[in-house]
Amino acid sequence: MLPRSVDTIAAIATAHGRSGVGVIRISGHGIAALANEILGKLPIARHATYSNFMDEKGDVIDQGIALFFPAPHSYTGEDVLELQGHGGPAVMQLLLNRCLDLGARLAQPGEFTRRAFLNDKLDLAQAESVADLIEANTSEAARSAVRSLSGEFSATIHELIEQLIHLRMLVEAMLDFPEEEVDVIDIDRRDVLLNEIQLSLRQTLDRAKQGSLLREGAHVVIAGQPNVGKSSLLNRLSGEDIALVSNIPGTTRDVIRQAIQIRGVPLHILDTAGLRESQDDVENMGIALTHKTIRHADLILLLLDAKFGLTQHDQAILEDLPTDIPRLLVFNKVDLAKKAATSEVRVSDPIVYISAKTGEGLEELCDKLLKSVGWRDQESGTFMARERHLRSLTRAQSHLNNAETVLHSMELFAEELRLAQTYLSEITGEFTSDDLLGEIFSRFCIGK
Ligand code: GDP
Repeated sequence: MLPRSVDTIAAIATAHGRSGVGVIRISGHGIAALANEILGKLPIARHATYSNFMDEKGDVIDQGIALFFPAPHSYTGEDVLELQGHGGPAVMQLLLNRCLDLGARLAQPGEFTRRAFLNDKLDLAQAESVADLIEANTSEAARSAVRSLSGEFSATIHELIEQLIHLRMLVEAMLDFPEEEVDVIDIDRRDVLLNEIQLSLRQTLDRAKQGSLLREGAHVVIAGQPNVGKSSLLNRLSGEDIALVSNIPGTTRDVIRQAIQIRGVPLHILDTAGLRESQDDVENMGIALTHKTIRHADLILLLLDAKFGLTQHDQAILEDLPTDIPRLLVFNKVDLAKKAATSEVRVSDPIVYISAKTGEGLEELCDKLLKSVGWRDQESGTFMARERHLRSLTRAQSHLNNAETVLHSMELFAEELRLAQTYLSEITGEFTSDDLLGEIFSRFCIGK
């Protein structure tokens, strides 16, 4: 753990630009002296106090509300003063400079939340969810982040750790006896507990993976022959005309990216150059780029023309696609081919029939698309997990799986449980290096 902070930090906590109200946040030991200088007195704790904000000559910089939160009942756990003034950049800067002149230091990104973590106001997963909530782009993502912030994710991790400790205690007790004297009831109990923990961990990982999808979004590539309607579909999904739609094959040569959301799930849709043999160098570069883009996708939408069905050329494209990336076969232009020439298509990938022109089949496409990228509506809600959390959960899971393979050796079994617990504790920050803390908090905005 870092030493407890002693200096006073200050920052403009509201966004840059002009707004009705702007907030300066100050935290640390020097609050009382600073308040005396700027406000003429220390405001009553947790009362909104209307006051002049004064410069060093006693002239008024601004007028507004001052809020004082004495330690430890504040966001950071230290004395905190918030000055709510008018949200103009010049007046905010004057007020901030006044705080800095009085000995406060400009806060680093995330420093208020870092202090909150170091003073045990939040655990690490909660601190991370503060940044996630601020950065959330969709309402689903915001809900998921607030669930983690309120401690639901941390509580689930703590429950898992409790279960593990319980099992470890049983195993440690068993270690004291020679193998042949260990009670059969204890062995049964050990196996039951291990299975229970594995199940809880699997469910937690599942919820965390869903949250991670909300945070990162999925990369969906639209591929297919020229002129099948790839750009039209991208435009349909994004509701904007961003890709060039034309009936001249080979028009899209660059990869066009568009961030959209379907039912709150962020998706990065990539429209690619049509896959065909071409003599045109620029088009061939586009096709090479398409293949590269496809390799990094979470899902490939292979778009086909319903009039022609699955042609030999499409078969060839299909065979060329990486087998480890899920795909969805989308027959477009059903408005032109009511009796789609597709009824005999036999492929194992899911199929949807749509018209990018009329919008027919789009709902079903969205359903299948979300399902294919791994989204499931979670009744219990998702956790806004980060890559770091998923890694720790997965590692804990593999140590529990290892434990199952070393049931013959109580020592090895106990060691696997210990390792699983270490990884779970990493999530909430009980075992965390300063480097990791630095990395996590540096990604915050200033003033948070
Ligand atoms: P891309 O080369 O695969 O990107 O195809 P485009 O989106 O540029 O579309 C090629 C042509 O097909 C354009 O003339 C579109 O208007 C037309 N088109 C695309 N989707 C449909 C559809 O669902 N129905 C009909 N009738 N025409 C479509």
